[in-house]
Amino acid sequence: MRWNKRISATIAGMLLLALLPLRSAEEKRVAVYAPRASFSLPVQERGNAEYVGLFEAVEPLGQASIRVDAKSWKLRFNGVNCEFKAGQTRGRVGKHTIELAQPFLLEGEHGYIPLHALPLVLSRLLDSRVDFHTASRRIFVGDVATRFSLELKKGEGLVLNFSDPVNPMISTEPGKLRMTFTHEPIVSAVGTYEFQEDKLIAGARFNEVNGAAELTVQSNVPVMATFADGGKTIRIVAAPSRAAPAPAPAPPAASGAATPAAPPPEASPGGTPPAPAGAAAGAPSGTVHPAYLIVVDAGHGGEERGAALSDKLAEKDVTLALARKLRGELQARGINALLLRDSDATLSLEQRAEAVNASRAAVYVALHAANLGTGVRVYTAMLPASYTGPQLFIPWETAQAGHIEASRLVANAVADEIGKREMPGWVVAAPVRPLNNVVTAAIAVEVSLPGPQVDTLVSANYQQQVAAAIASGIADARAKLDPNAPKAAAPANPGGAR
Ligand SMILES: [Zn+2]
Repeated sequence: MRWNKRISATIAGMLLLALLPLRSAEEKRVAVYAPRASFSLPVQERGNAEYVGLFEAVEPLGQASIRVDAKSWKLRFNGVNCEFKAGQTRGRVGKHTIELAQPFLLEGEHGYIPLHALPLVLSRLLDSRVDFHTASRRIFVGDVATRFSLELKKGEGLVLNFSDPVNPMISTEPGKLRMTFTHEPIVSAVGTYEFQEDKLIAGARFNEVNGAAELTVQSNVPVMATFADGGKTIRIVAAPSRAAPAPAPAPPAASGAATPAAPPPEASPGGTPPAPAGAAAGAPSGTVHPAYLIVVDAGHGGEERGAALSDKLAEKDVTLALARKLRGELQARGINALLLRDSDATLSLEQRAEAVNASRAAVYVALHAANLGTGVRVYTAMLPASYTGPQLFIPWETAQAGHIEASRLVANAVADEIGKREMPGWVVAAPVRPLNNVVTAAIAVEVSLPGPQVDTLVSANYQQQVAAAIASGIADARAKLDPNAPKAAAPANPGGAR
């Protein structure tokens, strides 16, 4: 997937891989989809007109440089010279004269053109057909569109097949699951689908808004999305019901297909009514989690190796080993634990958040490893606590806000246990994804070296100590998260879990 590759290539090390910029919900954006790159840019409002930075809009698409003097702003793109003058509507792109309708703006070195002129400038610069979906601000250069088919399998769910891999953000509210595609050129000739008499799926709606595409599935029961075929297939199926025991993840298929969530259980008539779906099912702080299920997320995996801790040592392998030890330590304390990946599978951040939100977990723990610094850092999301009671819809990017107090409580309990074992530990608030998207107590633990040798990170003894500290902290936090919980059990087999 284009986005993941770009991120992995440009940012290496530590937790930075998880530090994707958050997209502000209110910010106006324009998407540019081209064979070379797909991206989105903020739209600037000046007066009553929408503007966009011209250099910013072309720089991902080729070789671009600018030269600014008192009078003019000159762009050279793939050997073509362009010139615009501050305050003037007429500019030049190669041999073509361009009329902008609104004046070119020069702010420092930044040159801005009216948004509606960008498709014309791109078509001249790239010598390509350009389509502009004006209402949603989506610009398609050449034949880049990703198409999809949608098939309802009666009573089983909805199968979406895409012409290219996709990686949408997923959010849910009762009766709805929304996939937001921020960097995929998804198009559809059909806006609305209706399904009569299916017990799971009532319909689907495709729409384009603010530099993105959205596909909203209306359901009759809580549903969740699972991914297959390297991101080219999404299945919308019934979500596990609240009464279901902790699901064990299906082993990923040999293709590396990631299906982090459990298969849908049979409908259980007479059983506990199913929980509302996914993110919006956000249990308010203090809700009883009967199972006290802990979801352990070994950072990175598959194609995404994480930090290179040494020539031979990839972060993804350290996090998986640590995750398995943590599961053992939790189980030794009588606590249910589920690994999001128990193999070398590739999972996107969205898939991880979606899986934990569907799991009804009490605590989500993401694990990372670093070869910088020493000790153990415990991260919580950097969001203000803003819980205001049950909500019908929880914005994906701030889904964690209602649980931040619970997350800090768990983080502090874990840091205390790390301190008791005389390892250095810190609690840090940081914009760490996918913590912001998780609707339960959520922490990320980044383990660095106990000593000068990188190899000590793979020392089974050190990993076991860290896992034991995290497990004890999570066990201690239980009574505070849920006053009706049984007293934390002492480890049945301290340090003995494999
Ligand atoms: Zn990491």
